[in-house]
Amino acid sequence: MLFTCPRCHYTFASADTPAMCPDCGHNRVVPSTDVEYDRFYESTLAVLREEAEPGMSADERNWTRVLLYLNRPRASYFTAAFLRGHILDATPEITLDTYKSMRWEFLRKVSADKAALAAEKIVEPEYMLRDGAGAPVVANWERFGLALQTLYAFETPDPHAVPGTDAVQAISLERITENPTEAYNRFIRAWLGLVSESSLRRGVEL
Ligand SMILES: [Zn+2]
Repeated sequence: MLFTCPRCHYTFASADTPAMCPDCGHNRVVPSTDVEYDRFYESTLAVLREEAEPGMSADERNWTRVLLYLNRPRASYFTAAFLRGHILDATPEITLDTYKSMRWEFLRKVSADKAALAAEKIVEPEYMLRDGAGAPVVANWERFGLALQTLYAFETPDPHAVPGTDAVQAISLERITENPTEAYNRFIRAWLGLVSESSLRRGVEL
């Protein structure tokens, strides 16, 4: 299971309760909260996704961002059931249906984020800069909402263009379900492996 240090907030996995924090040496660590679990798996999954990224198609790189955004918490019984039943063990038809409804759900959340921005009188940029890691550099970024932030992280042919909802519509879900790359499947399997392990550690039978 996961433990967090109350002094330095370092979160780490351990089979037994450790006597001290491996990072700062504090003499007490406590079981992690749900928020800390999600944060831990968010960063672990980001690393796994980055490793698989070079082998994935641009559509798959964008789509995995949507999958990660919509599956919160990312390490839960429901996420494991979804990954197994609707992606890995499912027919392409079932996966395609699931993906289409997820695309609809994602667009709905993007619209809600855009409406919230407009209500705050914040105008979306026409062009944007990206930092060295490719992350968007946008004024009032923290007000944009998680769905809109996910959309802005999309890869586009012009890195300064602001991805719109047409970029979501343009993802070929048919190709991802019928002919996924090995890297895409590897990422989904790695995700399931991580989820299964963490859920078992927390005493949930999968
Ligand atoms: Zn510590």
